[in-house]
Amino acid sequence: MLILLTNDDGIWAKGLKVLEQSLSSFGTCCVVAPDREKSAASHSVTLHRPLRVEEVAPNRFAVDGTPTDCVILGVHKLAGKKPDLLVSGINDGGNMGDDVSYSGTVSAAIEGTILGVPSIAVSLARGEHRNFETAGEVIKKIVPLVAENGLPKDALLNVNVPDVESFEELKGVRWTRLGKLSYVDTLAEMKDPRGKTYYWVGGTPVREDENGADTDLVAVEEGYVSITPIRLDLTHNRALRELRERWKVSL
Ligand SMILES: [Mg+2]
Repeated sequence: MLILLTNDDGIWAKGLKVLEQSLSSFGTCCVVAPDREKSAASHSVTLHRPLRVEEVAPNRFAVDGTPTDCVILGVHKLAGKKPDLLVSGINDGGNMGDDVSYSGTVSAAIEGTILGVPSIAVSLARGEHRNFETAGEVIKKIVPLVAENGLPKDALLNVNVPDVESFEELKGVRWTRLGKLSYVDTLAEMKDPRGKTYYWVGGTPVREDENGADTDLVAVEEGYVSITPIRLDLTHNRALRELRERWKVSL
């Protein structure tokens, strides 16, 4: 099996190294990752300048582009043939709820899915242990299932692992839907040394109360591994039906 690995934390990130070590027994791993951190790059593609690739070790490539650039290069060129599987991660921090739309980790798996490669995104939720090895053990359980059964058409798996001290402390696995996050203190306004105002986007994510036990956010909070199937088709089908019924748009 040929597995393409990527991330958005950069080629030197610990999570990517652990992912490679965890999956090397399943086949050949080809690593294609950004040469620096590209978290929150979402699904951006570099179109207005060339991309440079450096082979930093055999079958390990650093790209001066986004996670999506890495998947395009990996699938079409660097892996040598179409990979059987793509795994993106292990991201340093959860990718759950509304955060999924910003995530370079998840977007790499979206690009893999678009290119016809069964794809998994895996993230380690924030915590004090930063136990990537446990997330590596988790992905080892999921990869054989995907390799054997494939994935439903246009679906990828978004896996989030709680940051527990050891694998044995995980409570189990829940199949989940995306939860609802909001951010507080999103925009920091500061002064530079010359007295000019600048802004820094960030903030603190807060889980909204409406989340149930079937959401990714609550599952991870309660110590479960969360697996959410994500679809590429963003059409809001209920809204489509309602609007078709009720809104007469005339030209
Ligand atoms: Mg990241």
